[in-house]
Amino acid sequence: MAKEFVKDITAMDEDFAQWYTDVVTKADLIDYSSVRGSMIIRPYGYALWENIKNELDRRIKETGHENVYMPLFIPESLLQKEKDHVEGFAPEVAWVTQGGSEPLAERLVVRPTSEVLFCEHYKNIIHSYRDLPKLYNQWANVVRWEKTTRPFLRTLEFLWQEGHTAHATDEEAMEETIRMLNVYADVLENVLAIPVVKGQKTEKEKFAGAKATFTVESLMHDGKALQSGTSHHFGTGFAEAFGIQYTDKDGKLQYVHQTSWGFTTRVIGALIMVHGDDRGLVIPPKAAPIQVMIVPIAQHKEGVLDFAYDLKNSLAKVARVDIDASDKKPGWKFNEYEMKGIPVRLEVGPKDIENKQVVLVRRDTLEKVVVPMDQLEEQLVSLLDEIQSNLYNKALKHREERTSVAYTLDELKETLESKPGFIKAMWCGELACEEKIKEETGATSRCIPFEQEKLSDQCVCCGKDADKMVYWAKAY
Ligand SMILES: [Zn+2]
Repeated sequence: MAKEFVKDITAMDEDFAQWYTDVVTKADLIDYSSVRGSMIIRPYGYALWENIKNELDRRIKETGHENVYMPLFIPESLLQKEKDHVEGFAPEVAWVTQGGSEPLAERLVVRPTSEVLFCEHYKNIIHSYRDLPKLYNQWANVVRWEKTTRPFLRTLEFLWQEGHTAHATDEEAMEETIRMLNVYADVLENVLAIPVVKGQKTEKEKFAGAKATFTVESLMHDGKALQSGTSHHFGTGFAEAFGIQYTDKDGKLQYVHQTSWGFTTRVIGALIMVHGDDRGLVIPPKAAPIQVMIVPIAQHKEGVLDFAYDLKNSLAKVARVDIDASDKKPGWKFNEYEMKGIPVRLEVGPKDIENKQVVLVRRDTLEKVVVPMDQLEEQLVSLLDEIQSNLYNKALKHREERTSVAYTLDELKETLESKPGFIKAMWCGELACEEKIKEETGATSRCIPFEQEKLSDQCVCCGKDADKMVYWAKAY
């Protein structure tokens, strides 16, 4: 291979963390800024986020939600209203103490999440059962003062959506919580080609102020887990703290039942670490900003560029197509677009034009196929579908290979070393065992999956009675 064209990416098996950093910077997803732990999302990275966002936003609206926008700042007194919530977030909030040259009478928090703002608003607009349900969502940035940061995975500021809903009954709120968890699973599996495990968080791992937290967990190439979306059932906890009440059909005052759910730019990190390889990014077609990159060969020859541009225009009906007609060498372009993870490269030169054909090269397998011009649209569409499902199946196979079972703490520890991944093990439900496992192995409980298996009836840690199977893993 024309080595001089390849921008240097560290091999995954050599140093996975460095590989990740190389990919996010060299594939032009981000640049670092002068603010520690903050990233500049570059056009290619932002286009990827916009695609993910559009897919999710459509589903959020299809399930009856409306988008709103809340303020960036939260007065300290408002954040203080729900005790568990403030305790959970206090260590990582950024404070505004001064406006211009004047110290503020009350400090402001830069939102780490917007529960309290929605609650304050809901108190004002919900009065009767006729006002329910309220199904609001916002797309916004939030700030969490993290100590260690990595692009997309953990940054001081990140982009996300946060849904906040209020319902008349506990049952409705529960349905909503699971509905949105399923929406996240749908986007992850069918757009990002990332298989997920759905389940409930333990008490220790649940959201600050929630009655129950549900999660979709995915497994990265290196065997670490990544929480890829969470959905929380609040019960009436926030409603009681904020006094959000409505008059029911019998004229009685009732507290509303609330939910919240969030999905962030973290999933870009997941996409990179699930599908990427030593050449760089691999983006599933449904998420890809550019699905097909046309690279003209011998473009100085008469007719080649015209032909290539005509192709671009006609294929635009069926795919997101771009063309690189710059004077860089084809070998440079091949490497560049492989690194950027564009699902299909289309090569066309004088001979192809003469033979009424083009060459398609798929990014996932690097296979080349020669396609007659009169079958191009049809074959391209089915190739994109095939790449999409191949990536999902490959990721699923990897997860299955990296999912083990442990019956004792020693086994759990040993498996985490020899075959990092998800470890299924029984748990008694005691916090002490969960903490001990984390302390001794570095693994946290990822979730109590909906799909339970009775591996044994003894806790992996203490050996006492256990009826819950938990997924454990080291996590990002
Ligand atoms: Zn135990």
